[in-house]
Amino acid sequence: MGDPLRLDSEKPLLKQYYAGQRMESPNGGFLMLLGISSGEGGVAIAIFECSASSLRYELVIPKATRGERKRVKEVIDAGDDPDCPRHGPGVRLVRAGRDLVCNECGVAYAKA
Ligand SMILES: [Zn+2]
Repeated sequence: MGDPLRLDSEKPLLKQYYAGQRMESPNGGFLMLLGISSGEGGVAIAIFECSASSLRYELVIPKATRGERKRVKEVIDAGDDPDCPRHGPGVRLVRAGRDLVCNECGVAYAKA
């Protein structure tokens, strides 16, 4: 299995990903999530397999923005459990080492 291919037009795909919608593959079929790993500088990399071609694709999930970090910190400071700023209510951030991360983005939004 070679290196995964990079997906084009990442913005609309990211939107679908955060919304939990089915993502269409460039080869027909759709993209099935295989896993998420952390990349360099706080980004995460989601690996997908195309249901039609079995080719693998990667989607870079951008690191937390300053605004996202600020909102999460405000929730923590208020004594509440923060949700993922991208996935929205119901997707809690979880402790991973010294960070609070979203399991579905693979992105750290705060220090635990
Ligand atoms: Zn998330």
